[in-house]
Amino acid sequence: MKPDKTAPPTNGQRIEYRNGLLHVPDHPVIPFIEGDGVGPDLWAASSRVFDAAVRKTYGGKKSIAWMEAYAGEKAHEKCGKILPVETFAALREYLVAIKGPLTTPVGGGFRSLNVTLRQELNLYACIRPVRYFRGVPSPMREPEKLDVVIFRENTEDVYAGIEWKAGSDEAKKVLAFMAREMGRELPADAGIGFKPMSRGASQRLVRRAIRYALDRGKASVTIVHKGNIMKYTEGAFRDWGYEVAAEEFADRTITEQALTEKHGGSVPAGRRLVIKDRIADAMFQQVLLRPAEYSVLATPNLNGDYLSDACAAQVGGLGMAPGANMSDEIAFFEATHGSAPKYAGQDKVNPGSVILSGVMMLEHLGWQEAAERITSAIEETILSKNVTYDLARQMEGAKEVSCSRFADEIIKRMG
Ligand code: NAD
Repeated sequence: MKPDKTAPPTNGQRIEYRNGLLHVPDHPVIPFIEGDGVGPDLWAASSRVFDAAVRKTYGGKKSIAWMEAYAGEKAHEKCGKILPVETFAALREYLVAIKGPLTTPVGGGFRSLNVTLRQELNLYACIRPVRYFRGVPSPMREPEKLDVVIFRENTEDVYAGIEWKAGSDEAKKVLAFMAREMGRELPADAGIGFKPMSRGASQRLVRRAIRYALDRGKASVTIVHKGNIMKYTEGAFRDWGYEVAAEEFADRTITEQALTEKHGGSVPAGRRLVIKDRIADAMFQQVLLRPAEYSVLATPNLNGDYLSDACAAQVGGLGMAPGANMSDEIAFFEATHGSAPKYAGQDKVNPGSVILSGVMMLEHLGWQEAAERITSAIEETILSKNVTYDLARQMEGAKEVSCSRFADEIIKRMG
């Protein structure tokens, strides 16, 4: 094998996207990136869980033809590049992939690999389901009441990376332009950042959230924004969100306002999905105080970043939180935590986030039964108190097990 090329497995077929639909063969080729730090430990454990679930569910009729793609330190060792072009090519060709965490060295001149992958592949939606697993230690009294899927816009907002250091020539130019052309005097020692939010990017995100909610029979989509302060970015996000619901899903959605004004608060027959909005600061209160009233949340980039971690903490932390980044065609599933370098090679950390990202992946493939098999086995394993150190230290009477043993315990409970 050439260092920066991976041979596609000969026992698999390509997933295809035709006429807006994903066509999944029985033995799809799926690229995986192990990740840095604890990545190899996590992948070794998680991939055994995926294979066992698929085998136990479909008895050999279906299987995944894994294909390694390189990124991060392993790619650098093999070919001197941290993100080889072959990796992008594999993701574009095979459409569904999964990765462990990648290290981003702190300091200038090095763009995060995760951000690079999202931008290059136009993975505009970051999707994070947050639900509680019985037995996981949580700071909340009723953590099970939170069961939301967060759709975070991934390409715009203050994350677009358009900013200039205070005192730089660029900042001075922008300040001069603002004073001269826009009549706005800003402090000469200000750093400057731009916050672009477009109709196109906002609507494709909300559209995706609405489709997801409709496909799964969810009760509502809540648009989360800070439009009371940032009217033409965050406020527009809300307006564009309602617009896409009204223009493209009028017969299957109803706004919360119409529900209250015209239907006395109860959903009329045939109009199941309620579209509502909340101001971001109020939303942080709502997920704590009235979590059961929310199911799908659609947010701009920064709100979504904060909200997904806050919600994950409510149900017991980031060690178990899965995620996916998606374009219209590509779905890239990933652990939401980092590479935890201090635990690298110790077979110690919790593979839950990678495993649950794989559960999302199986659902995306339409392999629902295999996904459910893993979910209930994880639940049983946690209830049995055979858990990795991060959970064990917070659970009374727990038995601490290694990363690989945790996977064994899950496989054992797959029934
Ligand atoms: P981190 O998530 O790697 O680790 C912080 C701490 O959280 C760890 O020391 C450990 O105590 C705990 N932890 C993390 N994952 C765990 C798991 N699966 N099981 C049990 N405990 C776990 O965050 P960090 O130290 O800020 O970042 C390390 C590196 O990871 C950085 O280079 C960062 O840029 C990168 N990172 C990558 C991703 C990603 O690939 N999506 C996300 C976040 C951070």
